[in-house]
Amino acid sequence: MQVFRQFNRPLTVDEVLAYGREIVGSLNKATVYRNLKLLSDNGWLKRISHPSLGTLYERTGKKHHHFFHCRKCNRAFELPGCALKVEEAEPKGFKVEDHEIFLFGLCPSCCRGNSHKK
Ligand SMILES: [Zn+2]
Ligand SMILES: [Zn+2]
Repeated sequence: MQVFRQFNRPLTVDEVLAYGREIVGSLNKATVYRNLKLLSDNGWLKRISHPSLGTLYERTGKKHHHFFHCRKCNRAFELPGCALKVEEAEPKGFKVEDHEIFLFGLCPSCCRGNSHKK
């Protein structure tokens, strides 16, 4: 929970493990998996299936939003709001119930050519 409060972006299991180890040095992957499952089951976290990063975890209770994946530092970011006009995107005769949008490219620090900072 501390890791997710510190980083306001969706995280992979490996990121949770790496950042969690900075708080608790002895943290292992099994503990991370167990806690991610626990927090997902009780609704504090939700799972996102990302097309290239695999399963990501993020805090629940946020407004509808989408994700940006930086192909250089391989981190996922949360994008504020939604640019999709569902009424315009909806094919004739279909009923859209939900959608996911994943954008790809470079994050601000990779655009500046900086070495990766968290
Ligand atoms: Zn980046
Ligand atoms: Zn949307």
